[in-house]
Amino acid sequence: MRLDKSKEIFDKTKRYIPGGVNSPIRAFKNLSIIPPIISKGKGCHIFDVDGNEYIDFVLSWGAMILGHCDPDVVNRIKEVVEEQIAFGAPTEIEYEMAKLVCETAQIDMVRFVNSGTEATMTAVRLAKGYTGKKKIVKFAGCYHGHHDIFLKEAGSAVAELRLKGIDEDIVQNTIVVEYNNLDSVEKAFKENKDEIAAVIIEPVAGNMGTVASKKEFLQTLREICNFYGSVLIFDEVITGFRLSLKGARALYNVEPDLITLGKIIGGGLPCGAVGGKKEIMQCLAPQGNVFQAGTMSGNPIVMSVGYATIKKLKENPHFYSNLEMLAGKFEKELTQVFSNSNLTFCINRVGSMLTIFFGVEKVENFEMAKMSDLDLFRSFAEYMIKNHIYVPSSQFEAMFLSVAHSENDVEKFVEIAEEFCSSKRK
Ligand code: PMP
Repeated sequence: MRLDKSKEIFDKTKRYIPGGVNSPIRAFKNLSIIPPIISKGKGCHIFDVDGNEYIDFVLSWGAMILGHCDPDVVNRIKEVVEEQIAFGAPTEIEYEMAKLVCETAQIDMVRFVNSGTEATMTAVRLAKGYTGKKKIVKFAGCYHGHHDIFLKEAGSAVAELRLKGIDEDIVQNTIVVEYNNLDSVEKAFKENKDEIAAVIIEPVAGNMGTVASKKEFLQTLREICNFYGSVLIFDEVITGFRLSLKGARALYNVEPDLITLGKIIGGGLPCGAVGGKKEIMQCLAPQGNVFQAGTMSGNPIVMSVGYATIKKLKENPHFYSNLEMLAGKFEKELTQVFSNSNLTFCINRVGSMLTIFFGVEKVENFEMAKMSDLDLFRSFAEYMIKNHIYVPSSQFEAMFLSVAHSENDVEKFVEIAEEFCSSKRK
């Protein structure tokens, strides 16, 4: 695979943008290939400036559930942009989008922001304002954005870095506990009895690779928060509208007090949202005194594209069952390939999110994820990308399917994975 033009552009970009990227994971720092510079996307395919075509299993980190440049989404952007770009004033589409999101995700109220980070930051501030407490509990390996309070034992691109620039005075109010481990949560609450404003969790984690919460774990977490008067926040930035219209909550039948959304909610444009119970949401300014604001929040183009996307998910009764069927086939065939190869591995899948861990048989938390064979994962990711299958460059990320993927696309992935296994046997 030639990446000459990509290399030229990447080198030039590094002169002006640190590391050549606007988000660290994109730099492929742990791989020995440079990131292809992407120029086009259609359905589940992306193309780089050298003319290479890839089947995309990253999908803008889960956002593009309809695939790239879905015609309805593109048409909606074209229509809106003729008359509305930004006003920083109320528009009717904000009402329509808020109503659609509240009814679809079954929450009382919502506030739109521009990213997942803003959503989680606002959720935690709301919890602190509502409870009058100052500490938060988060889980090792979960990633909630780049605000200081969350950058303690975080997953995703943070997992392989030694961080600087974090305000230790702020971070000392963040208590990190182990995912799927109730003892560790109970201990944190006993030691910080009346001080914990919120527990924030990815109900299905995507940022230590895909790792599902156990049902009893989430149910008990709900009970613990009730007992101690803490706000339970489900960070559904990845899982919202991906695992179902109601996100991961539908799978567990556990109701948090607040949820955070991102990625799919903006249909690929910058968007996030915090939503949940009216009693807490109405603490937000200007109704209440918990401050949050944004010049671009609720942008009419973003709202219109989010609206078009969610409408499409909602109107197709087979949307999630079709994705589940394809993802089931993907998991089954991959399991077959890796079993035949005699490699030790484990595949974690929830709906259309999937991660392959090498060198371990089970992954239920960040410690277990970190014990996987990171070198083998690197060579796998590199092999796949060189063979036109675009996968996350890090072990601590999930792969995603969209409705634009077909059985053929999944089979192509499996075929290349099989070649990778044979290359390891030689
Ligand atoms: N929460 C979760 C669960 C995420 O996966 C991410 C981003 N991957 C964020 C929050 C932060 O979102 P953003 O990158 O839009 O700020």
